[in-house]
Amino acid sequence: MIQLKARGVPVNIFQATLAIVTGKEKGQGTTAYASQENGDILLTTDISRNVSQRMVTNIPSLDHLEDGDIIYITTNGTINTLFRTSSPHNSLFITDRCNSNCLMCSQPPRNSDDLDHFFKINSGLISLIPKSTSELGITGGEPTLLGRRFISLLQQITLELPETDIHILTNGRSFAWKQIPQSLSQVNNHRIVYGIPLYSDFYQLHDYIVQSKDAFNQTVLGFHNMARNNLRLEIRIVLHQQSYKRLPDLAKFIYRNLPFVEHIAFMGLEYTGYTIKNNELLWIEPREYENELEEAVLFLDSMDMTVSIYNLPLCLLKRSLWKFTRKSISDWKQKYLDECADCILLDQCGGLFDTSKRHSRYIKAIH
Ligand code: SF4
Repeated sequence: MIQLKARGVPVNIFQATLAIVTGKEKGQGTTAYASQENGDILLTTDISRNVSQRMVTNIPSLDHLEDGDIIYITTNGTINTLFRTSSPHNSLFITDRCNSNCLMCSQPPRNSDDLDHFFKINSGLISLIPKSTSELGITGGEPTLLGRRFISLLQQITLELPETDIHILTNGRSFAWKQIPQSLSQVNNHRIVYGIPLYSDFYQLHDYIVQSKDAFNQTVLGFHNMARNNLRLEIRIVLHQQSYKRLPDLAKFIYRNLPFVEHIAFMGLEYTGYTIKNNELLWIEPREYENELEEAVLFLDSMDMTVSIYNLPLCLLKRSLWKFTRKSISDWKQKYLDECADCILLDQCGGLFDTSKRHSRYIKAIH
């Protein structure tokens, strides 16, 4: 897994700050400068040298940083990497809070008062992100909990990153209140796509999976409000023991009721967060749902809907489904197993979550 955090000894850092890594050098120790509006901050693996300068010393390693990376340095000497210049998988993190509590949440919500904190960081970060960035995610928690400031962040992105495709992960429940999609449509950025989960065509099952009463009704009403306001929609379906049986019914429901959806993604389970605790309710070997998945995917494809499979390696899927797979796991949390070394499809396979604490026992090199 790629390192996104380091910690050293802060010297003269009295305020948390965003900065861009510049001038990384390897000598006796590794050093880099973190440029920001009030001058440079020295980052070094050495011990403290010049006590009059702003710096972070004794950092175990700076190998994970590259020139152009955007970092957030805190007063306790933590260096968080917020934007990796060489990665296509960068995101703005909006909040740890969420109004759902999904059984398989990979990053369980926290009731922390963090909206202001992340809003300030993200406003500064957007201004520093290179204009040439092709893609940027927005994630949480539930980003729409930011309220009006969510809209102002999107306005800022539209102004400062006009060539960047934006992918927002949201549960979309707030879109049931039609003034929200109306306001979002006024941002007038057709590069924004909203990725929203729908786990069943049956309301009780969707509500159970997201652990929130009325979530199904809100989500589906929200979809229609989005369509009325020309917002782009991707539906995301996580595959597990609770969702797999009705996949063919869900596919038909989407085709009949949500013809404006521009992409449907079926997603393998990331075995972390709540999933570990809910193992008995959720875990299923992918080969046990392969028939339902195949029926759902091929049906949507036959109806000319755009459909993908995310987060599942090729050796766990029927060959009929290989053409729908995408390398969807973010580079910083993707891995392969020793078994993969001999696999002829290594280059085409998206691999596995490094964050997952359990993998299928059927992963096997293809010869
Ligand atoms: S063996 Fe590894 S590389 Fe090959 S398909 Fe399976 S997970 Fe992918």
